[in-house]
Amino acid sequence: MTDAADLRARVRDLLAAHPPATTGRTDFLRARFDAGLAWVHHPAGLGGLDAPRSLQAAVDAGLAAAGAPDNDPGRIGIGLGMAAPTLLAHGSDEVRARFLKPLWTGEEVWCQLFSEPGAGSDLAALGTRAVRDAATGDWIVDGQKVWTSSAHTARWAILLARTDPDLPKHRGITYFVCDMTDPGVEVRPLRQLTGEAEFNEVFLTGVRIPDAHRLGAVGDGWRVARTTLMNERVSIGGARIPREGGMIGRAAAVWRDRPELRTHALHRRLLDLWVDSEVARLTGERLRQQLAAGEPGPEGSAMKLGFARLHQAVSGLEVELLADDGLLYGDWTMTRPERVDFTGRDAGYRYLRAKGNSIEGGTSEVLLNIVAERVLGLPPEPRDDKDVPWKDLAR
Ligand SMILES: Cc1cc2nc3c(=O)[nH]c(=O)nc-3n(C[C@H](O)[C@H](O)[C@H](O)COP(=O)(O)OP(=O)(O)OC[C@H]3O[C@@H](n4cnc5c(N)ncnc54)[C@H](O)[C@@H]3O)c2cc1C
Repeated sequence: MTDAADLRARVRDLLAAHPPATTGRTDFLRARFDAGLAWVHHPAGLGGLDAPRSLQAAVDAGLAAAGAPDNDPGRIGIGLGMAAPTLLAHGSDEVRARFLKPLWTGEEVWCQLFSEPGAGSDLAALGTRAVRDAATGDWIVDGQKVWTSSAHTARWAILLARTDPDLPKHRGITYFVCDMTDPGVEVRPLRQLTGEAEFNEVFLTGVRIPDAHRLGAVGDGWRVARTTLMNERVSIGGARIPREGGMIGRAAAVWRDRPELRTHALHRRLLDLWVDSEVARLTGERLRQQLAAGEPGPEGSAMKLGFARLHQAVSGLEVELLADDGLLYGDWTMTRPERVDFTGRDAGYRYLRAKGNSIEGGTSEVLLNIVAERVLGLPPEPRDDKDVPWKDLAR
């Protein structure tokens, strides 16, 4: 078993063989992946060394201290947080060997083709169809997806499609890797509250997917999707941040730098939110330690729920703190950003962007349902459509 001392030695060897000062960014990241220092808990050959996941933080810190480039998680968050754990858990050897390295180095961006105009919270109702081409064995996909973050920069997508409409909705879904450069993929920007178009609608017309790019068995896509969704909540809600980092760091900086704006009432609220942020940060740390033991559970839903509430409260407080300046909005130009950054730009942007935090990755209402049922053991919501063939559901 690889231990902390062994990993430190490997970090030293990597830095000696590929000095960050003289090695190109991508070359360094490729070498880091090959050295097993990308995801230390992955198997050897897939970016890891079968080491405990908890040792990753020390590797990251050691490399950052030496000035090594990082793989820009804001640009490839969906790949890192959602596609990678799913590819690892459900992909064939060929799929894992093909996709994980360029995903981690950032050479290939990923997006998530899940939500549809008629299927968001009720994702299992999705209607995008995948039909097998008897001659080639490929799948031909037709449908529409929506709210697809980063589709405009993505090379690949994780895709859910219906392969059997005669089965109840959860059972007729299959999970694929979709080539975003296929001529049948059309990506159109959707402008959002912040002015920019971080997400898109995606039209799929006769998109061809080889059967080798299927993850899991035909009809077993819902089980595969659960891996993605559980990891999505942890990756949105449980990102590692330093003490007084992230959103609370922005508000605390205003408090420190602009004494003329201080009031007693705002001080009290800032302290309360500072404590809540610290509790959330430590809870995230505990969640990551639990993760070392396996897949994330419903605790990830509680984490994401708390994160959305906190982001909205803290960004609101920052705007109030700034008084008149809080009403200024730096730039409402329509852009198609390459990165997702919840705490970037100005206070107005942070305030508006935080509104999406209680929708993306599962709405707060839906996450409350999950916590109620799966953490607190309360009775489940009535589900009278569970055994009805998808094609017979009201739409
Ligand atoms: C910034 C952002 C980025 C996103 N990126 C992606 C992406 O990359 N890929 C992707 O596939 N999707 C993405 N989404 C979509 C997101 O997952 C959906 O918006 C979300 O799941 C909600 O679905 P919906 O919008 O269809 O709303 P609906 O499901 O129609 O919900 C409408 C309202 O009803 C409530 N509601 C629904 N069901 C219940 C229930 N059972 N109990 C109580 N209340 C309920 C909801 O909480 C909500 O308030 C993104 C969304 C946002 C905001």
